[in-house]
Amino acid sequence: MAAQVIDGKAIAAEVRAEVARDVKALQKSHDLTPGLAVVLVGEDPASQVYVRNKAAQTVETGMQSFEYKLPADTSEYDILALVQRLNANKNVNGILVQLPLPKHVNAEKVLNSIDPDKDVDGFHPTNVGRLWIGERALVPCTPTGSAILAKKVIPDLRGVNAVVIGRSNIVGKPMAALLLRESCTVTVAHSKTKDLPAVCRGADLLVAAVGIPEMVKRDWIKPGAVVIDVGINRITTPEGKNKLVGDVAYAECAEVAGAITPVPGGVGPMTIACLLQNTITAAKIQYNIKD
Ligand code: NAD
Repeated sequence: MAAQVIDGKAIAAEVRAEVARDVKALQKSHDLTPGLAVVLVGEDPASQVYVRNKAAQTVETGMQSFEYKLPADTSEYDILALVQRLNANKNVNGILVQLPLPKHVNAEKVLNSIDPDKDVDGFHPTNVGRLWIGERALVPCTPTGSAILAKKVIPDLRGVNAVVIGRSNIVGKPMAALLLRESCTVTVAHSKTKDLPAVCRGADLLVAAVGIPEMVKRDWIKPGAVVIDVGINRITTPEGKNKLVGDVAYAECAEVAGAITPVPGGVGPMTIACLLQNTITAAKIQYNIKD
């Protein structure tokens, strides 16, 4: 039987609608309209598209959007100074510095200068620590979105055998932390894992975050498993067409899986939706408002 397709576009729209309701509630209860500041340094075309989409969706949900577009030769000192101003600005509840930054800028230094309570990307070591010890944290957006998709088909994740392929700080590690928080039994697989197909076959929930086009094959999937494909890979087909594919060989795996996310239209749309949700969480943390 063909797998259920997990519709990330529709679920992201639900998350955005919830954010819009939260904005209205905060305006009513605290006279507060949350604001998200996005800093873009340079003219990377993909980053420009991301930033435009983020700003448009921020405004659509009723929040304030602040955009800072700086030339590629902006000094590290000036970027750090801008982050300090945004840290101190009461109208700004979330700060996102779009990566990649130009080579002359130490990205780690810039990201670590963001106030952890405004760090809507969830990359600051303070938020990483808070996530792992179970404190209220700002959690990276892509794994948060992936976990929401998984919970749509497995609402109670307790005891579920989960395998995460990939151990990056942005996706794999926070994904593992989130699934552990849901009481899954979590295995983190990576480039040095022995017999990866066999490890994956043990998964009731498989999350692929590798960056290798269609690496996960049909015979890696346990029949009925839920498959969340985080990968976004641009390939050229034998016919010479450009195409986006995930880390999972979708068509063949969909014949075995119980549910699966497509690429595009799966995890991708969830990332910005969760960024907006994080801006609400950040505002609540700053104003000491309980969820
Ligand atoms: P990364 O390159 O930082 O990490 C990749 C991980 O995969 C590493 O931990 C590595 O150990 C593991 N890996 C590499 N080769 C492997 C192999 N042969 N077998 C098993 N594991 C292997 O990448 P990332 O930033 O975590 O991103 C992963 C994928 O997710 C990419 O395709 C990226 O484009 C995509 N991504 C999507 C979104 C989104 O919004 N949907 C956001 C971030 C990343």
